[in-house]
Amino acid sequence: MIQKIKGTYDVYGSLSLKHLYIKSLFQNVCENFNYSYIETPLIERSELFHRGVGETSDIVTKETYDFVDRGGRNNTIRPEGTAGIARAVIENKMYTTLPLKLFYMGSMFRYERPQKGRYRELRQLGIELYGSSDEMADAETINLATTFLKELGLKDVVVKINSIGGVETRKKYREDLIKYFSKNIDNYCEDCKERLNKNPLRILDCKIDADKEEVKNAPSILDYLNAEEKESFEKIKKYLDDLDIKYEVDNRLVRGLDYYTNLVYEFTTPYKDIGSIGGGGRYDNLLSSLDGPEVPAVGFAFGFDRIVDVLNELELEIPKTDEIDVYVLNIDQKEYAFNLVNTLRENGYRVDMNITSKNMKAQFKEADRYKAKYLIIIGEEEVKEEIYTVRDNLTKEEIKVSKDDLIDYLDINL
Ligand code: AMP
Repeated sequence: MIQKIKGTYDVYGSLSLKHLYIKSLFQNVCENFNYSYIETPLIERSELFHRGVGETSDIVTKETYDFVDRGGRNNTIRPEGTAGIARAVIENKMYTTLPLKLFYMGSMFRYERPQKGRYRELRQLGIELYGSSDEMADAETINLATTFLKELGLKDVVVKINSIGGVETRKKYREDLIKYFSKNIDNYCEDCKERLNKNPLRILDCKIDADKEEVKNAPSILDYLNAEEKESFEKIKKYLDDLDIKYEVDNRLVRGLDYYTNLVYEFTTPYKDIGSIGGGGRYDNLLSSLDGPEVPAVGFAFGFDRIVDVLNELELEIPKTDEIDVYVLNIDQKEYAFNLVNTLRENGYRVDMNITSKNMKAQFKEADRYKAKYLIIIGEEEVKEEIYTVRDNLTKEEIKVSKDDLIDYLDINL
C-alpha cells in the first residue's frame, strides 16, 4: 500500500466541512474589507525565494522543496505566499493602480520536522495590502485578521505587536546584539550559534534559548527606534485602540522572515502544541528588492491547519453540515425518482437517492446516513396520482403533498 508523505494529511469527512467553512468565512471577511482574490503558481524559480524571503531565514536555508526541472532550471515549491504575489504584482504591473488589496488561500511546502501543528504541506490564508505607508493600512490588516478570528469564535487569541524599525535602526541593533550575545554564545544551541552573525535577532525568539535570563534581558529594539519610527508605532497602537482591538507589545517579537520592516505582529494561542496561528507585518522593501518599484506593503498569513487545530481543541461547532434536505426513496420507480431528484436539485435543494439498486430497508438506512431532513417515498400509486408522502425524518410525521405544491412545501419548511 502506498502511503501519504510524512507531514501531509488528507482532508475528508467532518474535517473537509471545517476546511470549506473556514475558507468561505475568510473569503467573506476579505471581500467585506474589499480585498480581491489572487492565486499564484505553486512552483516558482528558486531565486525568487532566495531574494524575496531572504538568505538567512530558516524557511529558505533549510526548508524549501527544491527541484531541478527537465530543462535544468532550479525551481522551488512555494514555502509561503508573499514572494510569489510580489513577483506577480511586478510581472503583471499590478502596481500601476494603487492601493492593491489582495487575499489568497493555499498550500505551502516546508521541509520541517513534522509534529502536531507542524506539517510539510501547510495551508495558509493571507492578505497583502500594497501601496500605502499610512498606519491606517497596518491597522486595517490587523483589524481584518481579528474580525475573522472573532467570527470563527476564537476568543483566546492574543495579538502581539512590535516594531523592528527600518534598515538603519536594525543595523545598529544587530551590531549591539552580536556584541551582547558573543560573550556567552557557547552556551546557546547550534542554531543560535549560527544565527549570531547571520541574523542575531532570531536568537530572541529561539524556541530553545528564549527562556534564558540573558535573552530576556537583551537590549530592546524599541529603544533603538528613531523618532519617526516611534511615532509610527504609536499611531498604529492608537488606531488599534480606537478599533477596540486588544494587543500586547512584545519587544522580543521579530518573526522569521527577512523582509519585514517596522511593524511585525503575531497571533498566539494559549493551547499547547499550537502556539502561533499567524503573523504578519510591513515589508516596504520587498518589491524593490525583486527589481520592482518602491511600493510599501503590509500583510499577514494565518496557519490554516493550526486554526483547525484550535477549533478542535475548543470543540467549536461550525455552522456547516453535511445533512441533506431530501432523500427520495423508490419502489421500482427509479427513473421517476431520478427526475424528481433532478427537479429538486434545480430548485436549490441538497437532494439524493439511491443509485446502487438497494432495497427499501437499505434506502432508509442510506437516508439516515446522509442525515436527510425529509424523505419522499415514490411507489406506483405516487407516480399515478402525483401526490407524494413527505416524511419529516426527525418527528416521523407524514403529510401528503401534490407534485405541484412540493416546492412550496419545501420552501416553507426547510
Ligand atoms: P510564517 O509564514 O512562517 O510567518 O507562518 C505563518 C503561520 O503559518 C504561522 O503562524 C503558523 O500558524 C503557520 N505555519 C508555519 N509553518 C507551519 C507548518 N510547518 N505547519 C503548520 N503551520 C505552519
